[in-house]
Amino acid sequence: MTKAYQATSVRAVVENGLCIGCGLCEALAPERWVMRMTAQGRLRPAPRVKEDPQADAPILAACPGVVAEAEARGASSDPIWGSYMQMHEAWAGDPDLRFKAATGGALTALGVHLLSSGKAAFILHCGADPAQPMRSRWVISETPEAVRANAGSRYGPTDTLAGLEVALARGQPFAIIAKPCDAGAVKARAKSDSRLDALLVALLVMVCGGASDLGKSEAVLRELALTEDDVTLFRYRGYGNPGPTRIEARDGRCFEKTYNEMWADEAGWRIQTRCKLCPDAIGEAADVAAADIWPDANPQGEDEGFNGVITRTPAGQALVDAAIAAGDLVKGQVHNPRDYDHFQPHQVRKKHAIASRLRGLTSAERPVFAHKGLRIEELDAKDIKEEQGAEARARAGRFDDEVPNP
Ligand SMILES: Cc1cc2nc3c(=O)[nH]c(=O)nc-3n(C[C@H](O)[C@H](O)[C@H](O)COP(=O)(O)OP(=O)(O)OC[C@H]3O[C@@H](n4cnc5c(N)ncnc54)[C@H](O)[C@@H]3O)c2cc1C
Ligand code: SF4
Ligand code: SF4
Repeated sequence: MTKAYQATSVRAVVENGLCIGCGLCEALAPERWVMRMTAQGRLRPAPRVKEDPQADAPILAACPGVVAEAEARGASSDPIWGSYMQMHEAWAGDPDLRFKAATGGALTALGVHLLSSGKAAFILHCGADPAQPMRSRWVISETPEAVRANAGSRYGPTDTLAGLEVALARGQPFAIIAKPCDAGAVKARAKSDSRLDALLVALLVMVCGGASDLGKSEAVLRELALTEDDVTLFRYRGYGNPGPTRIEARDGRCFEKTYNEMWADEAGWRIQTRCKLCPDAIGEAADVAAADIWPDANPQGEDEGFNGVITRTPAGQALVDAAIAAGDLVKGQVHNPRDYDHFQPHQVRKKHAIASRLRGLTSAERPVFAHKGLRIEELDAKDIKEEQGAEARARAGRFDDEVPNP
């Protein structure tokens, strides 16, 4: 049996489909790496100079394509959902934010609370690129209004961590709102950058079904006979829960697709490879994770917006309690892990399948990430079909990815 091994260069991470385009390469070595969109519509690090894997060791030590880890810091623990303090329904206290945000606005409400209470000076997160609204870019939001302006889920490539060094260099307390894989990278990075422990007051994530490449959005434009240059607004959801995907064009036309029209055909999701292998899409490395709470992950129509909130650390719990006390967040009914099995059956299936998929990659002599604290072995369904499928896809080059030009 081939032994599992890790990639030893950024190029190997990318070429083996293990890069999620988090942006950490650019943050840690901007003189060597810059994030670029590939022809396949994925954000990937492009080398500015001759590659130097030895110099990239600090990147590789935190890269989600090399390592995935979470430490149990909650008071309770569940085999599937991991360590947590509390699970409950919540939504933004401000009805306008609740309406405009992706689900119930819990993540934005927490960001707003951190700024308005003075606990954080700014939030590092992402939002639509004003110049190319179908694409996303990292942003630093210094006011509650700015955090609100970037509410909403972006279902395409995002490289929030490309802004990490800029954030740390400010020397002020801050919070990050990002994907679960980004949170894992930040926690791994904190082992060698003490500024993170000193300055990062909260790490907030969404529960994540996977990040599509830009081709998913391009396909929508093709259907509408629009080009990217025509687009002045590309909102993936929000303005309701889930709210429509809305596209506005320069000539004044606007188009909407319901959430189900957008996501009914799973074959067209164009989810990135790292997502299919994701050992922590449920935010175990974060302080707080926010989710949708539809039965069987299917919206039953539009509603006012109800997040499921999982507090994972005492700090996350204190933040949620303070936001509730201030009226920024409203608490609804209490949940338990079995409720989450029902809300997120895809996450349960994934947790059970990851070990088999990783074995398949190892059999195909491909690198995999190391993982710790995510119960991947305990949850191993030993699914031979998953294993053989992953091996066959890897051998057929279906996970291959490209390092773009700068
Ligand atoms: C790619 C993706 C997949 C998802 N899959 C699931 C799922 O399987 N199950 C589930 O329950 N929920 C999923 N969600 C989460 C759901 O869409 C909401 O984001 C979540 O419920 C939080 O809602 P909210 O109203 O609190 O967020 P909001 O208050 O609207 O705040 C969203 C925040 O997240 C940031 N953000 C948005 N998109 C991204 C992104 N792609 N990368 C990094 N940061 C981002 C924004 O900057 C903003 O700060 C997914 C979200 C995304 C972006
Ligand atoms: S996942 Fe992040 S750190 Fe790893 S190679 Fe990609 S951009 Fe760099
Ligand atoms: S599924 Fe995992 S790897 Fe993919 S974007 Fe979500 S958290 Fe990151």
